[in-house]
Amino acid sequence: MLLGVIPAVIIIKAQIAHVTFKRFLVITLASLLFMLTVAFANSPNWLWVDKNSKVLGGLAMPWSYTVNLSLFFVHKQQENEKEILLPDATIKDDQKSIVVLVIGESARSENFSLYGYSKNTNPLLSKTPGVFHFNATSCATYTTAGVKCILEAKNTGELYEILPNYLYRNGVEVVWRTTNWGEPPVHIKNYLNKEALMKDCKGDRCDYDEVLLNNLKEQIAASTKNKILIILHTSTSHGPEYSKKYPPQFETFKPVCNSVELAKCSNTELVNAYDNTIGYTDYILYNVIEDLKQLKEYKSAMIFVSDHGESLGEKNLYMHGLPLSLAPKQQYDIPFIVWTSDNSLKQLKTENSLSQDYVFHSVLNFLGIQSPVYNEELNIFK
Ligand SMILES: [Zn+2]
Repeated sequence: MLLGVIPAVIIIKAQIAHVTFKRFLVITLASLLFMLTVAFANSPNWLWVDKNSKVLGGLAMPWSYTVNLSLFFVHKQQENEKEILLPDATIKDDQKSIVVLVIGESARSENFSLYGYSKNTNPLLSKTPGVFHFNATSCATYTTAGVKCILEAKNTGELYEILPNYLYRNGVEVVWRTTNWGEPPVHIKNYLNKEALMKDCKGDRCDYDEVLLNNLKEQIAASTKNKILIILHTSTSHGPEYSKKYPPQFETFKPVCNSVELAKCSNTELVNAYDNTIGYTDYILYNVIEDLKQLKEYKSAMIFVSDHGESLGEKNLYMHGLPLSLAPKQQYDIPFIVWTSDNSLKQLKTENSLSQDYVFHSVLNFLGIQSPVYNEELNIFK
């Protein structure tokens, strides 16, 4: 009555003053200008707004009811969306083999010393024999699209069966471990999110992405299958609080930015915090490789690909998510790092830039899976 009906009655009763078109234009432009001034005066808060946009959008009236009501039904329908199944695959041999696919979060190749960065952000991988890195670009600048591209046979607008679902359906042991979100629906038995992983993990390190490695070797060793695909979906380099994404021991580059308002930090502090997340990623990937080395009866590979890159204040841009056509290269130049236990990498032309599409076909090749959708041109292995 007080906030709805009475104001509505007042509005119905109100006299409408008809103004000239010129006056209407002046008022509209002045209002717009006023709103823009307020928005720009508060520009340091944009990142906060962006980070919390979903929650804010859900609260803002009357948007909340008008838009989210229809969104609710759209999402309901998407939940029931059936993925298009790929033609059946066959396992060609019974050689024991494993691929660990590590999906990076907001990792840009520019800040990896493997890619020529001046700070030593890859102290462990750079000393590990058999580690190769390729220039690569992501298909998008945000997580859901980037992860989908990494997992599908080709980049389409459709929802085709993704790599873990496809291999699981065709007899491969598939494990998904995640501290992140945003992947297409995964239909496998061993899907472990952060809560599930935390349950069996002890110590301070469990709060960070190392939790993804907890009992991993044991889980692999317990498998009765010859072909295994492990997917680790990390979240280490996601902003804006980079400094909270690695254990204190990994604060190699100091001082760091501890604010969520990135524009309030100096660029050095911001880049230091981000570089520490890359150093921590280096440590995680190194440990994946060490684990695989100990599983001697398997032929194994580790592939690290990021979902997209990240802006760290270049051109006054932060984080990611700009449309690909406008985005600076920092948002789509991604690391593509590979290690194999048996030197099975193909001789690739170094000037070639890889895409995320290479993952699907390379994993099929490495695990010895025959499939009508396999594309040899998108395979990095012999
Ligand atoms: Zn992402």
